[in-house]
Amino acid sequence: MTPNNPLKQYFRQPSIYIRLPSQGQYYPDGALDMPPNQELPVLPMTAVDEITYRTPDALFNGAAMVNVIQSCCPNIKDAWSIPAMDVDTILVGIRVASYGHSMELGSQCPKCKHDHEFSVDLRQVLDQLKTPDYTSAVRYGDLEFYFRPMTYKNLNENNQLQFEQQKVMAMMPDSEIPDADKISSITDALKRLTMITIEALCQSIGAVKTPSALVTEQEFIRELMQNCDRNVFNGVRDHIVKLKTSSELQPLKITCPECQNAYDQGMTLDMSSFFAAAS
Ligand SMILES: [Zn+2]
Repeated sequence: MTPNNPLKQYFRQPSIYIRLPSQGQYYPDGALDMPPNQELPVLPMTAVDEITYRTPDALFNGAAMVNVIQSCCPNIKDAWSIPAMDVDTILVGIRVASYGHSMELGSQCPKCKHDHEFSVDLRQVLDQLKTPDYTSAVRYGDLEFYFRPMTYKNLNENNQLQFEQQKVMAMMPDSEIPDADKISSITDALKRLTMITIEALCQSIGAVKTPSALVTEQEFIRELMQNCDRNVFNGVRDHIVKLKTSSELQPLKITCPECQNAYDQGMTLDMSSFFAAAS
């Protein structure tokens, strides 16, 4: 920025302040500049930010959102290292700062199939976001598992890998290749999906404690998850899923204006609809 620009006072100003569910924990040194009152200013998007997140490719690999987050939340210096539990709060914060707190969503009543629109107050959505408890350990015999949240980078890589594998599997039935080859390709894709799951679990395990050692090395933990009893594996997986779900957006309670049926509507921050809906 040019020093002494007389127009500087007209640059965008923070329009809301957010509190991170993580309270700034889990960020590596230098990734977050936490203000003393724990409230992070959020600036509205610039025109460049808006164009950046709309670039389909950039959206997909997460790089676009990283740039937009760092532009709108200047206290976040490295958006790739944001712990998963903070991502929704930050994205909702940017949406509120840029387009206001009210968001229109479309929904179809599952009972009478009536399509209607309703309005969500995103400030309430922000208030409802909870902090999952990563402090408690899970014990199996002599083993104690300690957990940590995935980073935004982990989330992105996993989503991308999963999407690619699902694409392979979805294309399979129509393709011209012989059935025997299809089966082996599907088996391969399923194996790779399992590997992605194992990888995601390992990214969520901070340490494993035995009576004689505290193991934090990812390669050792990965080998354990590949070779442990399925009960241990499933128990660890379920605990991680529970932690993840507890910090997710709660479904919205909707009443159909046509037939008065009350139902839950899931809410996702799928970027394309979450931000595009505002324009
Ligand atoms: Zn209805």
